[in-house]
Amino acid sequence: MKLVRFNEGRLGVVEGDQILDLTSALGHDLQEWPPVAATRLIAQLSETPTRLDALLAGCPRVPLASAKLLTPVPWPNKVIAFPVNYHDHGREMQANYRANHQGFFLKPNSSLSGAGEPIVLPNVPNREVHHECELGIIIGKGGRDIPREKWREHVFGYSCLLDMVVRGREERVFRKAYDTFCPVGPWIATADEVGDPTNLDMKLWVNDEVRQQANTRDLVLDIPGMIEMASAVMTLYPGDVIASGTPAGVGPVKAGDLVRIRIERVGEMTVRVEQGLGGGTEVFAAPYVPDIKKQS
Ligand code: MN
Repeated sequence: MKLVRFNEGRLGVVEGDQILDLTSALGHDLQEWPPVAATRLIAQLSETPTRLDALLAGCPRVPLASAKLLTPVPWPNKVIAFPVNYHDHGREMQANYRANHQGFFLKPNSSLSGAGEPIVLPNVPNREVHHECELGIIIGKGGRDIPREKWREHVFGYSCLLDMVVRGREERVFRKAYDTFCPVGPWIATADEVGDPTNLDMKLWVNDEVRQQANTRDLVLDIPGMIEMASAVMTLYPGDVIASGTPAGVGPVKAGDLVRIRIERVGEMTVRVEQGLGGGTEVFAAPYVPDIKKQS
């Protein structure tokens, strides 16, 4: 199943080139704040996977091509992100650590955006904003101290995820926290649909240039390890998002670019880059010269 959020926050399931709109069947109030309907639905589906079966039959249909796709979970409890989780990216960043000995950081929920929304660049003319191509893992059943052998019981599904960042040496979270710096989508492909996530090809283009290409088998800290490590520290809740780390090939984007990410059996989305007027801060007043070594 492919779970989507679209237009004004409607919830649906993608079937071919259509969306089955579940908004009314779920009794979902589009004015609800905070917007926790998707978080709640993931929790319910994790308890009762068949919950939607009867509802889907009578749902209105919307052409997928005409829908504006939003981030599938706008209000998770947290977005967890693993830095330097592919050796080739570690080498290009000249990082002397890896995620398995470094741990994770958090991105703010307010940085989440969707496939139908632009990445808005902050007004930081001295700096480059880079793309990072990542597999997003969406937690289903929550838990604490989850042993690695039980990881499958806690994964709801997977999405394409772009971990956008202002390059620099300042606080990592600060540089990765801007609104729209965490596009997730185009939907959540549920775990049963994706099958084995430990051998997924992923690819990222800027316009038509391939920038990143990798397979999840090359993760330093693997998916069971990420769930074990994160839950050793924090209770995981349904809808939590894990950004699993980027392979080599990170690089700058500019206004007008189209960033395309595709992950095998998960999906593909193309996100437009726009220049925003705000976001300037004295933190980025000094230029930063990245010491990134491009790898072939
Ligand atoms: Mn990242």
